Amino acid sequence: MNKKYFISLSIAAALTIGSLPTLATTASANSSVEDLKKQQDDVSSKKEEVNGKINEKKSQIDQTISKQKDIQSQISEISTKLKDTETKIAEKTKEIDETTAKINKLKADIEELKKKIEERNELLKERARAIQEKGGSANYLDVLLGAESFGDFINRVTAVNTIVSADKKIMDEQKRDQDELEKKQAEVEKELGDLESSKANLESLKQDLDSQKAKKAELFKQLEAQQASLKVEKADLEQESNELSKMEHQLEGEIQAEQARLAELARQREIERKRQAEAEAAKRAAAQKQATSSSSGGSSSAPAAVAPSAPVSAGAWTAPASGTITTNFGWDTLNGKQRFHYGTDIAARGSVPISAAADGYVIKSHYSSSYGNVVYITHSINGQMYTTVYAHMSSSLVSQGQAVNKGDQIGYMGNTGYSFGQHLHFELYRGSWSASHSNAVNPRQYINF
Ligand SMILES: [Zn+2]
Repeated sequence: MNKKYFISLSIAAALTIGSLPTLATTASANSSVEDLKKQQDDVSSKKEEVNGKINEKKSQIDQTISKQKDIQSQISEISTKLKDTETKIAEKTKEIDETTAKINKLKADIEELKKKIEERNELLKERARAIQEKGGSANYLDVLLGAESFGDFINRVTAVNTIVSADKKIMDEQKRDQDELEKKQAEVEKELGDLESSKANLESLKQDLDSQKAKKAELFKQLEAQQASLKVEKADLEQESNELSKMEHQLEGEIQAEQARLAELARQREIERKRQAEAEAAKRAAAQKQATSSSSGGSSSAPAAVAPSAPVSAGAWTAPASGTITTNFGWDTLNGKQRFHYGTDIAARGSVPISAAADGYVIKSHYSSSYGNVVYITHSINGQMYTTVYAHMSSSLVSQGQAVNKGDQIGYMGNTGYSFGQHLHFELYRGSWSASHSNAVNPRQYINF
């Protein structure tokens, strides 16, 4: 009996001494979670920055593409104009060739006529000479005076007149034809001049269009090069972003592992605490047995007073508060907007205590603009890590690094943060909490409210 008492005491002493380094370990372990979270935040914000740059590159690439499209349509417009101009030049060239041929034909015709007139002239001169030779120097008059009778005279007059006037007439006609052809040649030559000047204009237009097209093509090439380098820059940034995502993921794993380790630590502490309580109870029982004969004098070793909480259920989980469930996990409407509600809302009036839903370890207790006064607890249940979140509390009674038991009060129901009326917003995660709520599960799968 005496020996047993001694053993109990020594166990209690060992546990008390042993709990000191444990506390030190948990404190530093907790800050390690904070460090990891901070690292993760840094990586996330760096990634956000990189993603912003990626979007910038994307919009720059889009801009160059739209500029290229613009230039392409300008080039095709210029090409259409060029084709049109080339067709016109070909037409003009054909017209010029035709007109030149016409001029050459006219020139030949004129030459021909000139020759004929010349010949006719020669013929007339010859006739005149013949008449002179016949009649000496009296020429036509001698011919007429040489008549043997009046009838002969008439005949001779007529003959001379006929010959002369016929030749004259032919010559006049030929001269008229020549004039006309020359006039026509002048007209056609003017026409040719016009055609050649309009062809020259078209050719200068074509040259202009060619140089415009070349410039646009050069610009297009520049944009292509610009786009290529933008794509390389974007790919680099994307790689960086991927690496940051990997880091983020890795840190998430480290945080989860760390939290699981802390939850396990809390579980072990709880076992120790129970052992210690049992040892104390044994000690008290022994003391009571010893004091049964003498006076009462029993020290009322009541534990720290805790406000009345929700009844604690058997099993790993218990309801964090008593009250009415006002919103379940899932889709619902808040202020006219559809949103996914990642937790269970419990409302009640008055001073309502909030308790830990399971044995665990407080990883965070702070104020946020959305959650208000909020407590995060990590749990290790049958080898699975869980995280619970208690939001909108009027006040928190626990602090970071503190071990809690199922049903322990951790704060009071409130209306802090983004909240409209007093309630507890309770979230449950299989794994760790994240801003995307990817691990959130319906608390009612685990807890009977
Ligand atoms: Zn809620």
